Amino acid sequence: MAAKRILVIGGGIAGIGFAKAVAEKAGGSAEVTVVTKDPFYMTGPSRPLILTGEQRYERIIRGYEEIGGSGIRFVFGDVTRIDPGERKVYVAETPTRPAVARELGYDYLLVAPGVVYDWGAIEGYAENWWRNANVYEPGRVDVLKKRVWSIKKGRVIVYAPPMPYRCAPAPSETAMAIYTVLKHRGVYGDVEILYIDANQKPQPPVIADVIMSRYEEAGIETILGRRITRVDADAVELDSGERLGYDLLAMLEPNRAPRFIEEAGLGGKWFEVKRPDDPRSPVYDDVYGAGDAAKLPFPKNQEIAYESSLYAANRVLEDLGVGAEPYTVQYAFLGWAYLGNLEGRLETESVQFGLNFATKPPKPSKDPVPRRRYTLDKDRWEQGYLDRLFHKPAETGR
Ligand SMILES: Cc1cc2nc3c(=O)[nH]c(=O)nc-3n(C[C@H](O)[C@H](O)[C@H](O)COP(=O)(O)OP(=O)(O)OC[C@H]3O[C@@H](n4cnc5c(N)ncnc54)[C@H](O)[C@@H]3O)c2cc1C
Repeated sequence: MAAKRILVIGGGIAGIGFAKAVAEKAGGSAEVTVVTKDPFYMTGPSRPLILTGEQRYERIIRGYEEIGGSGIRFVFGDVTRIDPGERKVYVAETPTRPAVARELGYDYLLVAPGVVYDWGAIEGYAENWWRNANVYEPGRVDVLKKRVWSIKKGRVIVYAPPMPYRCAPAPSETAMAIYTVLKHRGVYGDVEILYIDANQKPQPPVIADVIMSRYEEAGIETILGRRITRVDADAVELDSGERLGYDLLAMLEPNRAPRFIEEAGLGGKWFEVKRPDDPRSPVYDDVYGAGDAAKLPFPKNQEIAYESSLYAANRVLEDLGVGAEPYTVQYAFLGWAYLGNLEGRLETESVQFGLNFATKPPKPSKDPVPRRRYTLDKDRWEQGYLDRLFHKPAETGR
């Protein structure tokens, strides 16, 4: 029997997790192709530490060459459209590699392109976007770092949009990383930090109390349950009408999945799935969603993205009838949130927390004391993921 064509949109945690999981167990029954827009991947979790100088780009960027060498095919290009009726995916060429195919067919499709930062509903953003910088994108992290290391007085505003957005604690991590640098530079006090959250509590709720007490100790002011609706040259406006001046703006825009998902009838703001453990489209049985782009009732983070990719892989493997043992998987994770350093040492401390969605109700856990060793644990976890997904076993251990 001819090998089935398995096409994956997105060479990130969910896309590569799925591609490797299927390729490993399907053998000759499947031909796996990943279409992804950049010929490299930059991992997310430790980007806030670029602000404090504790992380370097070279440790968090990976190429796809090793995976390519293991038999998984790659097409580098920007997916612009899916036609699920015709089982076609359309690709536009993006620098720096030519898209070797502009139209790709499939027997099974996994859609895992992550999120889009959507400022559409924020007035004034189109003119003032360049005044904003955050830790979410390469390039913008660097801009934010330069601004944080040069500001001498005034107000920094950090903003978290309504959930769901990718990586619940990242806005608080950003606020505390900025605090740490300002304290280190001896300008904290002349520079103040205002943290605005569209949600009723800093996210995720399981560590909201720890974050709030850290903010109190650091003297960071907070406004909770308010959305930013307008950005001007020197002030933001909240949905209450209140205007707040800023000298440095670090806001995360609201998130959604890329538009081609909605245009293909595969969901609205997010890719619609049948069930978290059966992430097929309810409309097209051969199309699966995973990772941040999928509408899952869980936080959008790396562990959930990876777990959803294994649920999808198990379904495809079952459908292929290769008789492989399914991957052991459940929605549960242990995570860490960076909470800066109150003395201004460039040695970030972190809080450790866990969420187990396999129990009903979901079981949260945490150690409420931020510790340095948790920052190092998070580094090992992140590097472990990169090694597992992007390298052959012999090359691990940076
Ligand atoms: C600053 C930051 C901090 C974070 N901190 C944590 C943390 O502490 N803990 C944690 O668990 N998670 C954290 N995350 C979240 C974690 O990185 C994501 O949840 C995870 O990467 C989601 O995996 P994904 O595969 O859905 O998306 P991604 O890993 O983003 O991969 C999506 C891939 O799709 C590609 N793509 C996008 N659009 C297209 C297109 N049109 N055509 C082709 N390819 C496309 C992208 O280039 C990318 O390679 C953080 C993320 C960021 C940005």
